[in-house]
Amino acid sequence: MAYSTERLLYIFFKTDGNCHICHGVLTFHNYGLPYARGGWEVEHSVPRARGGTDRLNNLLPAHVSCNRRKRDGSTWQARALHGKTRAPYSREKKAQIRGNNTVHGLTAGAVAGGLVAGPAGVLVGAVVGGIFGHSVRVPK
Ligand SMILES: [Zn+2]
Repeated sequence: MAYSTERLLYIFFKTDGNCHICHGVLTFHNYGLPYARGGWEVEHSVPRARGGTDRLNNLLPAHVSCNRRKRDGSTWQARALHGKTRAPYSREKKAQIRGNNTVHGLTAGAVAGGLVAGPAGVLVGAVVGGIFGHSVRVPK
């Protein structure tokens, strides 16, 4: 099936440009090139052979090799071979997680700072906690 560039971009960025099976990095312009670095194609999470559709919610980007290895198997099994249990997060989802980490760090820092140094410690603790929370590495 031929996909429009717009559709390919949408599918590619669902996982922030990572293979949904092994989480490796994909290269957008190497779409459909099995031997190119980051070569990828559109993968049907539920295979067409098992009734999967061409709707966007069933389409994810995957290395050509990962897709071929999966064949008509389940996404769950294909990811399990790489120790993965879910698709990589989109950029928006990662930003959301980072924002939550910042808020949690800020809150925890304010409480800890207040306990250690009283009211003056709340602000310092919040700033330190917020910076720490924001810097926590967000997984793919
Ligand atoms: Zn892969």
